Amino acid sequence: MRFGIRTLDELHLSGKTVLCRVDINQPVDRATGTLKSINRIRACVPTVRELSDKGAKVVLMAHQGSDIEYKNFYTTKPHAAVLSELLGREVKWIDDVCGPAAREAIRSLKDGEILLLDNVRFVSEEQTLFEQKLRLTHEQQAKTLLVEKLAPLADCYVCDAFAAAHRDQPSLCGFEQVLPSAMGRLFEAEYCTVSQVMEEPARPCVFVLGGAKISDAFLMMQTVLSRGVADHIVTGGLVGNIFLTALGQQIGQGSVDFIMKSNYGEYIDRAKELYAQYGDKIVLPKDLGWVENGERREALLGEVPADIGAIDIGHETVKVYSELILNAGTVFVNGPMGVFEQAPSEYGTKAVWDAIANTKGHSVLGGGDSITATEKFGLTEKMGYICTGGGALIRFLSGEELPVVRALRHGATIPEKGE
Ligand code: ADP
Ligand code: MG
Repeated sequence: MRFGIRTLDELHLSGKTVLCRVDINQPVDRATGTLKSINRIRACVPTVRELSDKGAKVVLMAHQGSDIEYKNFYTTKPHAAVLSELLGREVKWIDDVCGPAAREAIRSLKDGEILLLDNVRFVSEEQTLFEQKLRLTHEQQAKTLLVEKLAPLADCYVCDAFAAAHRDQPSLCGFEQVLPSAMGRLFEAEYCTVSQVMEEPARPCVFVLGGAKISDAFLMMQTVLSRGVADHIVTGGLVGNIFLTALGQQIGQGSVDFIMKSNYGEYIDRAKELYAQYGDKIVLPKDLGWVENGERREALLGEVPADIGAIDIGHETVKVYSELILNAGTVFVNGPMGVFEQAPSEYGTKAVWDAIANTKGHSVLGGGDSITATEKFGLTEKMGYICTGGGALIRFLSGEELPVVRALRHGATIPEKGE
């Protein structure tokens, strides 16, 4: 048991039917029916392999969104082929979630065999529960069609979907009410890693916050500063620009227009308040970069031209940030330092990412674009830990209790049959 949750070590798996929820939601190319990335599928391989190796009949449940988020769900069929390839063993697939065909396929599994069900969001309850913000308690979720049809066929439930741990839905929180439950290896690794950052980070603990998702960044900052988790927060991207604006620095009208156009004006006041209280811990850019006629330009604060739009941090800032990062005990990273997607403004992110890759401390990185940047700079192998969970990670670091964690703690109290 860890954190009041069973691990795979505490379940008897041989010959048992295991319902395992994974998060293998990936960007899909709908024209060709292929997946544009397979990172999350790769990440759940250890758990699936272990369940199968230990002789369980493995039934995988997963969701897949689409480019039109929450409107047009997509099948999990391509995922089965990719998983099969990664595992080097057959992964059966069925175009049903919990109807008679799916149940028959589950009953006919032999020990060690793996079956992936179709997209759980094809079952309306799973979808309504978050799209319509209809709240069902975990006890009520246990009475939904999905759980009532599948739980009787299974001996236990395993959740390996840390990336979806903030979602309060039947496939994630309902089964733990009726089946002995455990977290999978990926869930365990991610949850332990982020708990370590929150509970007892090696000091000094440096947060690197940039990017464009301002609401997330401010929620995290408030929590990690008020709880004394972060010793330094180095800021870049839009986060840095908002703080500089709040302190009355001239950062170019283009930058301010962008903040206003993105409806982030309210955060300027939040930034003022945060800085008034924790100014000794919030580190701001000393210089900024922008692009003019395809060329990179930089200026120190105080010398930034009035008409530019800053989309990167500059060399002087990088020196300060790198020093802090290289000497940190823990580095938590979410959000790039600039528009790293284009060459003239990739410098700040690349240089800071190099420091993260070379820090003495333990680095933990999360967020879709932060991971893309890591891959772009070829630093994936040099990072301490790369989290698959974006939303779950942010919510955890914002001090929220994750619904799936609460459900798994309940599932830990349900004894196995014959126990
Ligand atoms: P993550 O996906 O890692 O959580 P975000 O989604 O919050 O990160 O932010 C990533 C995006 O922010 C990138 O597309 C990047 O181009 C953009 N970005 C970074 N700096 C700036 C900036 N100064 N102005 C506008 N956009 C920025
Ligand atoms: Mg992003």
